[in-house]
Amino acid sequence: MTALAVVSDLHGNLEAVEAVLARIDALGVAEIACLGDVVGYGADPLAVTRLVMARCKWTILGNHDWGVFHDLDDFNPLAREALFYTRQQLRPSLLRPGRRAAQEFLRGLPERMQDHGCLFCHGSPRDPVMEYVLKSDGFLEPDKMQQIFAHLDRPCCVGHTHWPGVHRADFRFTQATDQQREFRLDGPCIVNVGSVGQPRDGDPRACFAVLDGDRVEIHRVAYDFRRTQAKILAAGLHPALAERLARGK
Ligand code: ZN
Repeated sequence: MTALAVVSDLHGNLEAVEAVLARIDALGVAEIACLGDVVGYGADPLAVTRLVMARCKWTILGNHDWGVFHDLDDFNPLAREALFYTRQQLRPSLLRPGRRAAQEFLRGLPERMQDHGCLFCHGSPRDPVMEYVLKSDGFLEPDKMQQIFAHLDRPCCVGHTHWPGVHRADFRFTQATDQQREFRLDGPCIVNVGSVGQPRDGDPRACFAVLDGDRVEIHRVAYDFRRTQAKILAAGLHPALAERLARGK
């Protein structure tokens, strides 16, 4: 089986996406899968959606992609404000009819996928778009983890929390770091591939994973987040969305 690169939570961050695609190409990995949150938070939702359409074998739905078309009551104020901006950027008009394809792409995304012997969703195998599987759930929410693992018969790759690492069937979570970036996939486990466009584990470098046989490797790529920050500010988005990129929070 050939290797599969898995990206998630791109969040309209074009510089991070370009850096990750360049690294995937350099690694010689031909197939790319996207676990959603293509848009939201970032200044370049249209350009990032078009890149995903061009480069990814398949893409599944994230909560921010869903939010482009639905009620935003459950989103935090920063996310909501950024989604209003995102809707504007994606709205087709007489002068920009080409945006329709990107909008329809996001509207039609599936919630789950199976490939390479794994399951894939944005959030959690039991509630694929919205539910978070948090790194603390193993010891704070064992009942929740029990229910989630009850439905798993193989590895499942997710994003959504922006924290890369692996939840094992005994509910232990191992965070991916530079020292521990390769994991074996044997039986049910939940692999969080981290976030390309807005990492929150304290490391500002863009994050993605490569599945190869029974192994998964987490990769980090430095990119010019100052350019991304300048574009977020120029777009009139909240300064906190720019500032957090420098801290990886
Ligand atoms: Zn996200």
